[in-house]
Amino acid sequence: MTEKEKSTRVAVIGAGPGGYAAAFMAADLGLDVTMIDLDPYPGGTCLYRGCIPSKALLHAAKILTEAREAEHWGIQFAEPKVDVDKLRAATAQVVDQMTKGVGMLSTARKIRSVQGRAEFLDSTSIRVHFGDGKAEEIAFDYAILATGSRPAALEHLMIESDRLMNSTDALELPDVPKTLLAIGGGYIGLELATVYAALGSKVTVVDIAPTILLGADKDLVRPLKKRMDGVCEAIYLDTTIHKLEETKKGIRVTWEGPEITTKTKTFDKVLMSVGRKPNSSGLGLNTTKVQIDGRGFISVDEQMRTDDPRILAIGDLVGQPMLAHKATHEGIVAAEVIAGRRVAFEPRCIPAVVYTDPQVAWVGLTETEAKDQKRKVKVARFPWSASGRATTLNRNDGVTKIIADPETDELLGVGICGDGAGELIAEAALAIEMGATARDLSLTIHPHPTLTETIMESAELVGGRTTHIYKAQKKKG
Ligand code: FAD
Repeated sequence: MTEKEKSTRVAVIGAGPGGYAAAFMAADLGLDVTMIDLDPYPGGTCLYRGCIPSKALLHAAKILTEAREAEHWGIQFAEPKVDVDKLRAATAQVVDQMTKGVGMLSTARKIRSVQGRAEFLDSTSIRVHFGDGKAEEIAFDYAILATGSRPAALEHLMIESDRLMNSTDALELPDVPKTLLAIGGGYIGLELATVYAALGSKVTVVDIAPTILLGADKDLVRPLKKRMDGVCEAIYLDTTIHKLEETKKGIRVTWEGPEITTKTKTFDKVLMSVGRKPNSSGLGLNTTKVQIDGRGFISVDEQMRTDDPRILAIGDLVGQPMLAHKATHEGIVAAEVIAGRRVAFEPRCIPAVVYTDPQVAWVGLTETEAKDQKRKVKVARFPWSASGRATTLNRNDGVTKIIADPETDELLGVGICGDGAGELIAEAALAIEMGATARDLSLTIHPHPTLTETIMESAELVGGRTTHIYKAQKKKG
């Protein structure tokens, strides 16, 4: 049964960080907005099953690690006891608080929220299917499509088993398994491996690639790999999983790789974290002019317009990097475009952060990309062994590096591996957006003692010297 048709100026489909930012901006610009999502409150993957619960759990993991390592300072705690039910409840409370908060912001803006599954009927209307079998049709002037993404799976390995988890299942923290295999050494696999290892699981990470965090610069990955080697039971690279089988004792894994000595091994739980897929199917897009590429991403221009003049698309749905802050900024652009503003999504850089221990963060051009593009760059590295602040934290295991143009000194990229790298990288993003040179960064007085000084000192090194590293200088005259 379909209710009487409703109409709206802007229909936002999907209320993740992309969708709700778009809806809020459109409402702030005076447009009538209807926002549709399967979940009761806005937040999407990020708030319900992504960024936020994972970071709450990683915070708990950090507390555990710091308590265990406090002995370095002559402080001894007993081995921490973890009440998993309380930890799960505290994480759920964070999610609940934030989704309700965003819900209140939506209500205050008088956005009409509809809970259900949206599907296009044509280029000017959608049908929303409710849980009770009923449906509602909504006509729109413009639609912003923001249905995000879902965990990808290696189909040939899929088995019916409660022991096989994706990232959503793992974040629900059903228990702390004695042994856990994480298939995939990307950022989601590594973050969850960090959580479960801190909680007491013996974690093994496997990746078919020759490195964890494929694509990130090797020198940034090295300190992380070193620490994770100590935290995890094993990290097997260049390793292929052939089969998963449920047994009484767990999931038996058949695998092959240079360091694999037994053909099979049984784990209590297996986490499959092999990337994410855009939610572009089942939306009735064949009734519109929207085009989808071979990998399921929706094609858009720099104003976030699809090939259908009435439909814009944003966020994970339109491609890499699949990150919340990219989705948010695209959402804001999409709303402004609908309101008639002459804007485009043209960032110079988008920061990426891996919230492991240590964290890895980069922004702008990476050294790997420069090499692939055969672009000449100047690279300067500042090891955290020379940082006063890192020493006070007993975390000298980091590195900050600057990538600059050798001719103009323009700052092209910054990479950091170290404690709190995620908080540090924003300065670099601003500098790149502002067109700063490495010298601009080195001349900016940074507070002492802070880890931000590592950015200043690595920028100074681009010019050949810095205070806390000795390099023999060429004699003049
Ligand atoms: P989503 O957040 O995926 O939202 C899409 C919404 O659309 C969902 O609410 C869904 O219910 C709804 N929807 C789908 N289909 C329909 C339909 N037919 N009708 C109505 N509604 C529909 N990113 C970061 O930047 N930092 C992090 O630290 C980070 N950590 C992550 C950790 C994990 C474990 C995961 C899985 C992801 C993480 N991400 C992180 C990625 C981040 O969550 C996504 O990039 C971000 O959520 C994308 O936003 P979006 O608005 O495009 O889509």
